[in-house]
Amino acid sequence: MATGEFELIDRFLTRLGAQRDDVLLGVGDDAALVRPPPGLELALAADAIVEGVHFPVGLAAADVGHRVLAINLSDMAAMGAEPAWALLTLTLPEGSADWVRAFAAGLHELARLHGVALVGGDTTSGPLTASVTIAGFVPAGQALRRTGAGPGDEIWISGTPGDAAAGLAALKGSLDAPADILAPLVERFRRPSPRVALGLVLRGVARACIDLSDGLCADLGKLCAASGVAAAVDSTLLPRSAALRAAMDPEASRQLVLGGGDDYELLFALPPGVDAGSLARSAGVALTRIGTFRRGAGVTVDGEVPDRDLAHGFDHFTRQR
Ligand code: ADP
Ligand code: MG
Repeated sequence: MATGEFELIDRFLTRLGAQRDDVLLGVGDDAALVRPPPGLELALAADAIVEGVHFPVGLAAADVGHRVLAINLSDMAAMGAEPAWALLTLTLPEGSADWVRAFAAGLHELARLHGVALVGGDTTSGPLTASVTIAGFVPAGQALRRTGAGPGDEIWISGTPGDAAAGLAALKGSLDAPADILAPLVERFRRPSPRVALGLVLRGVARACIDLSDGLCADLGKLCAASGVAAAVDSTLLPRSAALRAAMDPEASRQLVLGGGDDYELLFALPPGVDAGSLARSAGVALTRIGTFRRGAGVTVDGEVPDRDLAHGFDHFTRQR
């Protein structure tokens, strides 16, 4: 049965995430009131996901709630910002209370984990879409940008890119392997782990940073363009999860590691000589060096320009995956 907008907000969306002292007024008025800490800059980002475009039709509501916050937390991570407040705009085909309850639970769990308070939003009817706007703090001048990589810096990534794309393929029925092999890959798509702790330890250490949403080559290309450098990737250094290696042949997995999207890992530039092992321990995630930034422009893998699909990733307006 359809439930009204106000009842949905009141029942499920009013006190989501962490309780924070710097939220003076949360959901319920015409706008939220928050108090930014003195001396810190605010990092602001927004990201929306649309059913059938960014996630498959029928993905569990709790996963949609997790994902829409996770992709925004990932933007905070990529800037080295500490996430604090979020706004949620939900567009729902019909007011299904069960769906919103499960969605809210998925979002709430991840928001609490990262100390984020949901302070407001908007709810309308239409094709299923969830959009979050997030705000976080960063000490003045210390945000990680895409622009600082220089020739000679090392290219590093967190985690094991390619897993989420393999998981999405499995969800869509286009990757066939035993269920116990596919399960961890599907989990990487359903529940990305935004690397917020890594972003914080990279402040003052990494020279440039980006999060991987469109695919490794595509996002590395964006960082190169912003920094005015080239990137030379050595494919023998690319990490591959055990599940990915078990699920597909080496060539297919190479394509996914380089071109698959939705990983929400961080890719960053380190000057030579940084102790990445200690960064990895502090952040609780594996870090792998995959190549070197050089003078010039564009991305090469083993000296060759990757084919168009790998280089462009998922471009919403030119190509559907
Ligand atoms: P208005 O008519 O002033 O825009 P709304 O009726 O849209 O107010 O919203 C009422 C309150 O509920 C506001 O505080 C708003 O921030 C909050 N709200 C609406 N939708 C959501 C949502 N999806 N998630 C969180 N808060 C929401
Ligand atoms: Mg409103």
